[in-house]
Amino acid sequence: MAKRSSKRLIITFDDLPLQEAIRKLFEDSEFVRTESLLIEEEGREWVLQKIIANLPRECIGKYRFERILLSVNQFRKLNREHLKKRLIILEHARKMTVSECFYRNKIGTECSSEVDLDRVKPGKRGGEYTVENTVLSCSKHNRQRGCKEVVEFWRQ
Ligand SMILES: [Zn+2]
Repeated sequence: MAKRSSKRLIITFDDLPLQEAIRKLFEDSEFVRTESLLIEEEGREWVLQKIIANLPRECIGKYRFERILLSVNQFRKLNREHLKKRLIILEHARKMTVSECFYRNKIGTECSSEVDLDRVKPGKRGGEYTVENTVLSCSKHNRQRGCKEVVEFWRQ
């Protein structure tokens, strides 16, 4: 991953409700994916209203407008591979009451705040990024697990 582009790829567990609202926005038939939409004031207003309408009640007011618009822009620029991963992350998050790392409280170390996708069957053994082969994990535990089997990692 290039260092220059990696910053916009990092999302935290705290970002997930906003990311989900953005995903819904991109499904909106009225949403035009042009740069001008975010540059013109009218377009910005429309985007903000839609996002706020898509956010869960308890998250309204949680995100600053600049952060919302920046996140919409970053989401739009995701390449196909990263978009696929982002959509899998959000699919996992939708199924959870509380979105948190799969390894939280299962091993001795604290979680980090960044969201990652951990492949149950690791990439080195041909495991792919699919909903079935992944769990939500923080980036720290994803790194720590490496190529260990999930159960082997728990027992540490
Ligand atoms: Zn964790």
